[in-house]
Amino acid sequence: LNLHLVEFVRSAVKTADFPNDNLPQIAFAGKSNVGKSSTINRLLNRKNFARVGNAPGKTIHINFFEIDKKAYFVDLPGYGYAKVSKKERDRWGKLMDEYFASDDTLTMGFQIVDIRHKPTADDVTMTNWFLQTGVPFAIIANKLDKIKKSQLEGSLQTIRTTLHLPENVPVIPFSAEKGNGKDEVLALILEHIHE
Ligand code: GDP
Repeated sequence: LNLHLVEFVRSAVKTADFPNDNLPQIAFAGKSNVGKSSTINRLLNRKNFARVGNAPGKTIHINFFEIDKKAYFVDLPGYGYAKVSKKERDRWGKLMDEYFASDDTLTMGFQIVDIRHKPTADDVTMTNWFLQTGVPFAIIANKLDKIKKSQLEGSLQTIRTTLHLPENVPVIPFSAEKGNGKDEVLALILEHIHE
């Protein structure tokens, strides 16, 4: 899989916009501002492919990035932004429902959380959404550069306990800023894309 061969494909707002070419899809979800765009950019070696610092809540669409004509990275809309109207929240829920219900080719899910914070109720809901699909799933614990080494084990344990993660779900310490964890995430992705 050549991660340099990436092109923006489309921004979906409804089921009919989702790709239907059966390529594997690697989905990324996370609370607004957790660093989802930065994480995707880091994995793709791009500065600004996924848009960093998008106004939270303003982007209720799903972006599909086609990689090497072999897979998609799926940028799911961020959640948990307080100042979002009920209407926008409903739109978010409907689009996510459609994505998870579509008979698609979700191959693997990643949920990005902030390593500094106890996951929120929204994070727990998102985790359950992924677990219900039964696809391979991992947590990316982002912003590793913001904590001390001595806090690492405790932070990972808080994430694991709060999200009620099954043993087999990895929690990967990651820094979109510095690059930590990138190789581990890419290895997991490659493991689940059959070329
Ligand atoms: P998104 O809303 O989840 O897509 O989050 P963004 O990628 O736009 O990032 C939100 C903010 O967090 C930006 O100011 C980023 O520069 C910052 N950020 C993202 N990842 C990291 C990280 O690993 N470490 C640090 N220190 N900041 C980060």
